[in-house]
Order: sequence, then structure tokens, then C-alpha cells
Amino acid sequence: MKKLLKSTLFGLSILVLSGCTNAPLGKISPQQENSIGAQQERQILSKVRTVHSGKLYRAVVDVGSRIARVSGRRDFRWRYHLVNNPKVANAFVLPGGKVFVFSGIFRYAANEDELAAVIGHEVAHALRSHGIVGAQRKQTAGLVGALLQVGMGAAGIDPNTAKTVNNIYKYGATYGYLRPHSREHELEADSIGLMLMAKAGYDPRAALSFWYKFGRSGQRIPEYISTHPDPGHRIANLKRLMPKALAIYRNSPYRRHR
Ligand SMILES: [Zn+2]
Repeated sequence: MKKLLKSTLFGLSILVLSGCTNAPLGKISPQQENSIGAQQERQILSKVRTVHSGKLYRAVVDVGSRIARVSGRRDFRWRYHLVNNPKVANAFVLPGGKVFVFSGIFRYAANEDELAAVIGHEVAHALRSHGIVGAQRKQTAGLVGALLQVGMGAAGIDPNTAKTVNNIYKYGATYGYLRPHSREHELEADSIGLMLMAKAGYDPRAALSFWYKFGRSGQRIPEYISTHPDPGHRIANLKRLMPKALAIYRNSPYRRHR
């Protein structure tokens, strides 16, 4: 455990640094986003075990590339990673479109449409530069949160472990470095992600079923680590947008070619 915490802290300091030394807010180019994302991607890939074959991996790459294609951002260098950790049901994205999905998400994403809800949400974060706009620290926070969850998953989430990890996170949060995406950004990613999945030919109603299951999952992740808003709020937002998303889905040229 000590070793794990050490390496997590090491990662944390690197990530905080890399999150704070970039261009002024709002002035960042897609090239810079790509290079920040690529740098963070390398750091994460050196710490987590990714999978490069099998049905789940192919689903992540297939759904990811279909959604990225309709996003219109060809200047991003899209990448899709499946992290082999069935205990972690989460996903995140790095600037420039590097999507990470943890295998635990498949406990809730039962088919490609539901997976598209997850990836659509993450792609939307990347499109809106949520990791960069507002404060670059926020992306770092999401990243560190994800890494901490990887750590907790690896350690089996016993109460003491979780407590220690949470204390570290709280310490960072107190000093303003580690905050998850805001609820506002989360809802925006939901809204844009819903339209993206529909446009790519995935049934947007799967977003409702996915987030419903996910919200009821009762995962004991503290609020300040979790990047997910209140489930009721999220579902209400998706329901409001559903007629528009369904219209896009029914007209999608990709629907029949999946
Ligand atoms: Zn999000």
C-alpha cells in the first residue's frame, strides 16, 4: 500500500505540474491540446494496464471512432484505451481526445448503445475543452481522481485504504488543485454526448438506461472524487433533450451501417 501511495503521489505531482505550466486560459490551440493530452496519456499508460484485444476492446475502439467521426474534430488525435480493472466503473478523457474506459463500466453498459452513452459523454468533454477551459487544474483533478480510483481498485478498496486515499484527495482539494469537473460541465457533456451518439447512429435512449443503472449502482465513491452529478438531475436533463436526440438518431445515415 505504501508503495502504491508513493507512486500515486508521484503521479499526482507530475500531473499537477503539467496541468499548470501550459498556455494562458482560453488561448490554447488544438495542437497544444493534443500535446498536453499525449503527455498525460503517456504518464497514465505507464501506470495502468490496458487491453488491446478482445470483444470489449474492439467495442471501445469501434464506438469511439464512430462517435469521433461525427464530432467534426479531425484536428484531434483520437485514441481509445480500455483499462483492465473490473472494479472501477468509470471513464475519462484527456485533452485532444484520448478516451480511457475502465472495464468495470461494462457492469452497467450492457450493449454498444449504452457504451456509446459513456463515450459520447467523454468525447463531449474533449470537444468543449473542459479539461482546459475554466481552469486547467480541473482536468488534472479528474485525472488524479481516476488514478486514485485505479489505485483503490488495485488495492481492493478496504476501508483503511479508501480513507487514506480520500484524505490525500481532500488535502489537494483544500488547496484548490484537485476538483472534479463541475456539475455544469457534466450536464453539458451529457447534452452534447447525447446528440453525438444519436448522430453516430446509436439509440439515445440507451443514455437514459445507462445513467439510470449507473446512478442506482450505489458505488461508494465520495462526492468529491466522483465526477458524476446527482442522478435525478442528470436523468431529467436527458429526458428533456430526448425528442431532439431521437430525431437526429432517426435521420442518422450511420444507423443502418453499424
Ligand atoms: Zn464527465
